[in-house]
Amino acid sequence: MDYLAGLNDRQREAVLHTEGPLLIMAGAGSGKTRVVTHKIAYLIEKQGIFPGNILAITFTNKAASEMKERTSKLLDTNVDDMWIGTFHSICVRILRRDIDKIGYDRSFTIYDRDDQITLIRECIKELNLDKDMYKESSVLSKISSLKDEQITPDEHINENYGDFRERNIGELYALYQNKLKKYNALDFDDLLIKTVELLINNKDILGYYQRKFQYVFVDEYQDTNKVQYELVKLLSAKYRNICVVGDADQSIYAWRGADISNILDFEKDFEGAKVILLEQNYRSTQNILDVANKVIKNNYGRKEKELWTDNHKGEPIVYEQLPSSDDEAYFVANKIHHLIYKGYKPSDIAILYRTNAQSRSFEEMFMKEELPYKIVGGLRFYDRKEVKDIIAYLKVLQNPADNISLKRIINTPKRGIGNATVDKIEEYAIEKGESIYEALLAIDGIDTLSSRAKNSVKPFIDMMNILMAKKEIMGLKDFIEDVIASSGYIQDLEKDNTIESRTRIDNIMEFLSVAVNFEERSEGGHLEDFLASVSLLSDVDKTIDQENLITMMTVHSAKGLEFPVVFLVGMEEGLFPISRSFDNEDDMEEERRLCYVAVTRAEKQLFITNAQRRVIYGRVDYSLPSRFLEEMGDTIERPEKEIVKTNNTLEEELLRVRDFTVSNIIKPSPKKRNKSNLDINIGDKIKHKKWGIGTIVQIKDKEDDKEITVAFDKDGLKRLLLSLAPIEII
Ligand code: ATP
Ligand code: MG
Repeated sequence: MDYLAGLNDRQREAVLHTEGPLLIMAGAGSGKTRVVTHKIAYLIEKQGIFPGNILAITFTNKAASEMKERTSKLLDTNVDDMWIGTFHSICVRILRRDIDKIGYDRSFTIYDRDDQITLIRECIKELNLDKDMYKESSVLSKISSLKDEQITPDEHINENYGDFRERNIGELYALYQNKLKKYNALDFDDLLIKTVELLINNKDILGYYQRKFQYVFVDEYQDTNKVQYELVKLLSAKYRNICVVGDADQSIYAWRGADISNILDFEKDFEGAKVILLEQNYRSTQNILDVANKVIKNNYGRKEKELWTDNHKGEPIVYEQLPSSDDEAYFVANKIHHLIYKGYKPSDIAILYRTNAQSRSFEEMFMKEELPYKIVGGLRFYDRKEVKDIIAYLKVLQNPADNISLKRIINTPKRGIGNATVDKIEEYAIEKGESIYEALLAIDGIDTLSSRAKNSVKPFIDMMNILMAKKEIMGLKDFIEDVIASSGYIQDLEKDNTIESRTRIDNIMEFLSVAVNFEERSEGGHLEDFLASVSLLSDVDKTIDQENLITMMTVHSAKGLEFPVVFLVGMEEGLFPISRSFDNEDDMEEERRLCYVAVTRAEKQLFITNAQRRVIYGRVDYSLPSRFLEEMGDTIERPEKEIVKTNNTLEEELLRVRDFTVSNIIKPSPKKRNKSNLDINIGDKIKHKKWGIGTIVQIKDKEDDKEITVAFDKDGLKRLLLSLAPIEII
């Protein structure tokens, strides 16, 4: 096979440049990843390089297995000897062989997030620090960023000697590292750091890998952090055959320490590096690229580059503003039915959203509509811990005999009730033939419990008893809100104030939205019925065809991937861009790059949607369309009914939207006015509410509607949907 076929001149040049450092910086869909796979195949097949002499680093495990698959398909042989994987998996491989040289045992354990929490909790206790002041997650993320910057505990302590809190964090950091060492364990940051340490301190080991890895590749280079760059530099130092590919416009992990200066450093550190720019995009239609170009232009300090393609202009980009998030989900489901009817496969389609919590309304709609889907890089909504926890509270309140749910929540969030205490209560309950809850009610009579243990449980019992009484008199949503507040669940997460805890809070609020919707739909809104409906939703048949599924995921996890059809949903101010980026220009630019990543995943069709009214955080919110939509300008087809920009303040505007929405759209839920059988003909004169008088110049059938093109006297040609357009025939 000719590995140079199917490549343009510049790509070919990149493949043929086998010796010496190479930097490929190019826009989305320009074939960077394709160059990497073709180049690997070329090296093996044409240059006779042994696969074991090649190292390829990707950003996710999914990308690694895809690259492995593509390469072995190209070569038609297995490439098992090649090292291909994420930074973490490569490091584990190196450490398993030689970590004993830096004082660990080769059977070391890798600590995941939960293990880390347990460990840092131990440290906080040992140093007698206030656990409310030193929340586990925030201490951990601080330690993680110190590690990435290669600042030692001592350095941090010395630098912050006057700062009581930072000094304590330094002490915690030191103790945490000591304990990791003592337990022969490494956290995720350590995997990288210890690998670098091992290589720097053991020249023979470093020499071995430097000789072994004659060719090194790094995909998505723009998202590597300092330590990762350090590692790449070490490994490729001997042969200097290092090829990194990336796109500065797609840098979306600055918040995790990824450093764009690595791109600039590359040219400095690898003198004489060849730089190849790819310009032609092969993935998307020109219409899609126009949207991407138009948005990313608004970032300052970027190298000017425009994506172009030989592909057709393609379908216009559909932008639809829906009255509510449920309508949005319905619109998307409906379009998907149509696409599948036209011949697309479910696996051709992706739904991309900014935050995981948004998947919920789509999940419910897709279940109802029997559309097969999967969620990548996140748990299905009802499988998430925080959602399960809140449901467990409700289950106990509904059914106190539910021991399993009770055990799940009795010490969640932490309220100082030890496992031993729970065990003793359970033993007592079993002996008496009662439920655990009944045993709790008679806690004073449990002799095996110390009075301290009893006191630890009493506030919980009081809280549950009060909630049980409230259940009888409160509405569903208010009740659930009360449960969440009384349990202290959110307060606990708020103290954390980390990315993860914020996500969890979002999900709980989203769960509250489920209740609001349920209450609107159902009669009476009984807790019992609500729990039944939720249990049914969370227990859908999981044995569907795993291959041919619609993909739902966040934009972050879509990096590097492509789909024939993309729905970019929830394009609202505050959601995308996310509100916490409003007062920080750097964060806003990262949001914009994220938007660029999202748009450029689409090959043939791109749909963009938003909702005027979204039940979020358990309350009804009205949002304006995302500023990115405005930046897209005329590259997208605007709906007729989009809220017109005014000079109002945001508050005035929201009020206006609210009035507009409530009076005109929301009640009842918008149904098409049935105008589609209206007798219209080309040449008819019409009057439009906004654009005035015009003449119909074209009529097209569209689903169960008609699309008419009208030449307006003042505003020129417009395309309108007959059923929706505010027109009358004159
Ligand atoms: P991203 O920045 O999103 O990671 P990328 O630059 O890595 O994009 P690829 O995924 O390698 O781009 O390529 C995008 C699409 O274009 C793929 O489907 C790929 O097969 C196709 N492609 C790339 N180069 C060519 C070419 N010369 N001829 C035909 N198709 C190509
Ligand atoms: Mg790529």
